[in-house]
Amino acid sequence: MSSARLARVAELLAAGYDLKGDLTRLAGENENYEVLVEDGSRYVLKVAAANVATEMLDLEHQAVEAVHAAKLGLGLPRMVPARGGGIESAHAPTGEAPLRARLLRFVPGIPWCEAGMAAPAQLRDLGRTVAAIDTALANLTHPSTGRTHRWDLAAAAQHRGKVGLIDDAERRRILEAAFHLYASCAVPALPHLPHSLIHGDVNDENVLVRHGCVSGLLDFGDCLYNPTICELAIALAYSMLDQEHPLAAGREVVAGYHAKRPLSEGELGILFPMVCGRLAVTVTVAAERSRIDPEREDWFVTEDRAWDLLARFSEVDPAEAGTRLLAGTGINPFEDRGEPVERLRKRRRHYLGAALSIAYRKPLKIVRGFGQYLHDDRGRPFLDLVNNVCHVGHCHPRVVEAGQRQMARLNTNTRYLHDGIIEYAERLAATLPAGLDTCFFVNSGSEANELALRLAETHTERRDVIVQEGAYHGHTGRLIDISPYKFMGPGGSGKPEPWVHTVPMPDSYRGKHRGSTRETGVAYGNEIGSVIAAMDAPMGAFIAESLSSCGGQILPPAGYFQTAFEHVRSAGGLCIADEVQVGFGRVGTHFWAFEAQGVVPDIVVLGKPIGNGHPIGAVVTTAEIAASFDNGMEFFSTFGGNPVSAAIGLAVLAVIQGEGLEARALELGGRFLEGLGELKDRHELVGDVRGAGLFIGMELVRDRDTLEPAAEEADQLINRLQERGLLLSTDGPLHNVIKIKPPMVLTADDVDMAVRLFDDELARV
Ligand code: PMP
Repeated sequence: MSSARLARVAELLAAGYDLKGDLTRLAGENENYEVLVEDGSRYVLKVAAANVATEMLDLEHQAVEAVHAAKLGLGLPRMVPARGGGIESAHAPTGEAPLRARLLRFVPGIPWCEAGMAAPAQLRDLGRTVAAIDTALANLTHPSTGRTHRWDLAAAAQHRGKVGLIDDAERRRILEAAFHLYASCAVPALPHLPHSLIHGDVNDENVLVRHGCVSGLLDFGDCLYNPTICELAIALAYSMLDQEHPLAAGREVVAGYHAKRPLSEGELGILFPMVCGRLAVTVTVAAERSRIDPEREDWFVTEDRAWDLLARFSEVDPAEAGTRLLAGTGINPFEDRGEPVERLRKRRRHYLGAALSIAYRKPLKIVRGFGQYLHDDRGRPFLDLVNNVCHVGHCHPRVVEAGQRQMARLNTNTRYLHDGIIEYAERLAATLPAGLDTCFFVNSGSEANELALRLAETHTERRDVIVQEGAYHGHTGRLIDISPYKFMGPGGSGKPEPWVHTVPMPDSYRGKHRGSTRETGVAYGNEIGSVIAAMDAPMGAFIAESLSSCGGQILPPAGYFQTAFEHVRSAGGLCIADEVQVGFGRVGTHFWAFEAQGVVPDIVVLGKPIGNGHPIGAVVTTAEIAASFDNGMEFFSTFGGNPVSAAIGLAVLAVIQGEGLEARALELGGRFLEGLGELKDRHELVGDVRGAGLFIGMELVRDRDTLEPAAEEADQLINRLQERGLLLSTDGPLHNVIKIKPPMVLTADDVDMAVRLFDDELARV
């Protein structure tokens, strides 16, 4: 500290407070001085950073006074009014920028971090004191409470993008996991939890202790309006540092708080993730600062201790950690874990048979879902990058509510008049090109495809169907017959039925025609013409996914469907678009994937995302085709189009539109493609990255010239990524394509994390 600066501060002290004394600069981020006056009285003079608004200082002052008024017997840094009565004094000798400062009473006591290992009674007292402080602050309102800052625990995700600053791979793994837990558990819950003004930085330097009790609290400079639970989470994080049994220590703090100021299950359930979030911020900010000034010791006092605690926590299942932390409250939000994985797996095999396979080498028992996240029985979070059924996010509250409400009112079949189904059909038709406005509702994608084939057959009076090699359209008998993915795969009969004709998959990367040009698209389209020409029977229908999912996340080149549809129609056939996987805005540019190719099918088949997990399938076609189907046989599906399904379907459409999910798919899909595209430059194994919106594929090859498929590597990669918290699967006839088709509520942070983890794990495969 320069003597000129000291002299200026001393001048301010004299001018603003009529005081003269010894000034000692205090350790810490801010410019604070201890002032020792001749009569023995002590103060702290806090020089305000140039950009601090006076209202912010007033907020701090009001907060201290509110806690003081609660008479908790705590030493507090109460303000000494400046000459004239203001909360700060400014001193500006002519020609110089004013220096602003506040004078606070010195609070005696030993900082928590210097008082030795805290005993259970002291930990409980900390919890009680923090609860009392929160109660004291709860009714304070102030115009400046809308602030946030870098330590705002509700905004910890702001630091997540800096994980790359950590060079050590193991530490990076630990940090990613901590942020992931925080983001998946705390972030979705926080907006719905009680908010109030909090101190915001109950750390182990700000808490003072005497005789094993909390005796004072310093530095209200970070106080802010926040989810109240942030306060306890911060205090908890610091109280567990250096403890031999951190969770046992934390249990005392939580019990002390809960006894004084009871918390809800929702608040308690996210405490452990919040603590991890706070520790993650501490080490990330330290990493950032070490690039600025690695010599500044006071910036790094907590860093190593926070890393130690994070490393220890990374070895405990989050549900177990949560249970232990809450043991003193009588509440355990993690009770729904059920039977252990291995035993359940055996029973599953017995009662469900082995034909129903299970994902991953280490199978998961998922017990909860919300938005883009799933949690297993161990409380581990997973970013769901592969489930395109829960299109608007797992358990979307609006969809859940719509279903629950209608279920409690009426659920019948469709042989009565009901507004819901008509409104739904109308809304669905409005998303499709003109003319496609007769809807048939069933219960699954398979049922819908079955019905689509029947519609086509009845209308054309022809049975022959053209399908793509590698395609899958459903699990019923007739659909297995038209799904090469099944009849050519393990257990399949191999030979298509005589009425089934296959055409090459329009795969511009490794297929018969290569390159993503219109020419390639037309060449693939002409394959349909060639097959039609060689057929003995008249062609009835061409059925294809608008983008091929099971075929290996294939995007047909431009011109493909136009050319194909021309051949089909000139032969008198119908065109069926299977949008079961790719519809409802997933491609981002259009609501339906076929629209991106500038074609209009005769029949469109819908499934998976349509009910966000509630079983709905639908076929939409023209009035003319529907009229042919009205031949006296009647169409009826017991559950199809019931009032509950209609209410849910309507809610899904409303959420897609209301939350702008189509635009989000385009933006985040672009971000994902760009990120994965960069990985292709770094990892030889990545042969191709392709996609449209949030329909993305990464094809792995052992050799970029021969395109030798890297199926084992792909399997290894998705299993490793599963252990890091990403859910993915492989697909394609060669099993070497990683498919990405997440819920559309993904965030940019999720995408960035996924790309970082892909990068890490590709390097290890
Ligand atoms: N079509 C496509 C393209 C599919 O991917 C699927 C299911 N994977 C189906 C139809 C059949 O749908 P469901 O499983 O709902 O019967």
